[in-house]
Amino acid sequence: MTSPRHSTRLSKSRFLSGLQCHKRLYLEIHAPQLAADIDDRRRMVLDMGKEINEIAHRYFPCGVLVAEDHRHASAALEKTSALMADPDVPAIFEGAFQFEGTLVRVDVLERVDGAWKLIEVKAASRVKSVHLDDLAVQTHVLRGNGLELNGIFLMHVNRQYAYPGGDVDLQRLFALEDLTEAIQEKLADIPPRLDEMHAMLGESRSPDVEPDHHCHSPYECPFWSHCTAAKPARWVYYLPGRKDLVRRLRQQGVETIDEIPVQVSLSHLQQRVRENVEWMSPKLAQKLHSVRYPVHHLDFETVMPAVPLYAHTYPYQPIPIQWSNHTESEDGSLGHTAYLCVEHKDPREEIAVSLLESVGEEGSICVYSEYEQYIVNALAEAVPRLRKDLLRVGERLWDLLEVLQSHYYHPDFQGSFSIKSVLPALVPSLDYGDLEIKDGATASATYHRMMYVVTDWVERQRLASALLAYCARDTLGMVELRRVLAQKAQSAAPS
Ligand code: SF4
Repeated sequence: MTSPRHSTRLSKSRFLSGLQCHKRLYLEIHAPQLAADIDDRRRMVLDMGKEINEIAHRYFPCGVLVAEDHRHASAALEKTSALMADPDVPAIFEGAFQFEGTLVRVDVLERVDGAWKLIEVKAASRVKSVHLDDLAVQTHVLRGNGLELNGIFLMHVNRQYAYPGGDVDLQRLFALEDLTEAIQEKLADIPPRLDEMHAMLGESRSPDVEPDHHCHSPYECPFWSHCTAAKPARWVYYLPGRKDLVRRLRQQGVETIDEIPVQVSLSHLQQRVRENVEWMSPKLAQKLHSVRYPVHHLDFETVMPAVPLYAHTYPYQPIPIQWSNHTESEDGSLGHTAYLCVEHKDPREEIAVSLLESVGEEGSICVYSEYEQYIVNALAEAVPRLRKDLLRVGERLWDLLEVLQSHYYHPDFQGSFSIKSVLPALVPSLDYGDLEIKDGATASATYHRMMYVVTDWVERQRLASALLAYCARDTLGMVELRRVLAQKAQSAAPS
């Protein structure tokens, strides 16, 4: 009789899917067409992981790559065996191993003192629990193949690395964490978990799993839309704020936000969402009038390279690459200026100079979130000769998000004050539907393409225009939001 372990071949990524949710694993194998397409954010994460892996290979000179991909698993297994048998190969990248129906690809296997060091490479900046599961299933398969392991490590990006410029120092870019003991403790759990997954995959129907917070951690599940398609529009899960409260309510049988009993204690925002009507505080008009003209409306876009590009930056440090400023004068007239760095150079000095010119020395600078404050402060540190001027800019920032959160709510926000929720609700003509770039992750991915992938000049111009249009939409959106809110506050004022 065939062991249930042999019925469907699992990979380590499928094993991790199964740990997140059996239904996810089942759908990945039996109904992958139900998954949502990979979005720009996920694609960026995958690309970054691939790039970090390739850079990590340089850490092991003379290592050999098993290039055969998942469609050529037998060839990959054969090549790995041949490389292991060759004592002159000091390290193997992407080695393939199979044991009892589970196939893993190992980022790095380093030959040390006649045994092997297992190293998983991650673009993350710290060890996460999912990395332990990842390494545990690899260890299980390698031991099943009779490999002697003298160390199990995670190699991740070291955020403390202050890049001085020139060649990247790989010894400092990466941190190596010895997880040998932690993995040892996890190993006993692996065979029963694999058995459970194989048995579940042999069923004729997917397991019945309720969508919940596990669907978003450690990874966003691509079947979310499928699993929640029948949920009501005001499903209680969409209540913003503390997730333990939502869990408790669901256990009590509360299905929609409208069914939440009145005696349940809710935050200010949760009450707004439950009431589901437009609300404004009596102080809204006063808050909106606290701006000084001319009112600038500022937004930055940034990139966060895992491998620093510019001297005196750290891995994943946000680097501003563009800004947009819509300036509204007291008579209502509007001007617009913008900057986008299209050259291969550290953009921060040019960003600082052009920004100071654009916002001048007068008026409030309307922003949407605290992020702009953070970027202005970081620019002040990066460009010491303009430090005082930039700090003065920081003192003029006026946060429209803070005003909205404390003084206004619209049912169409559906509990979210993200500008992507607020703008379509209050200024439908300015939603992001007509733009090629609709969110920050896509902007960042587009910038990367424009700078490092696309060589065609016309296409680069087109991408630059899309980036400028996206950033300008955010700042024009703020102008219109202030106007709409001012009209609402005025019509609500006692005559
Ligand atoms: S959306 Fe949630 S419940 Fe559905 S398959 Fe994914 S993780 Fe499982």
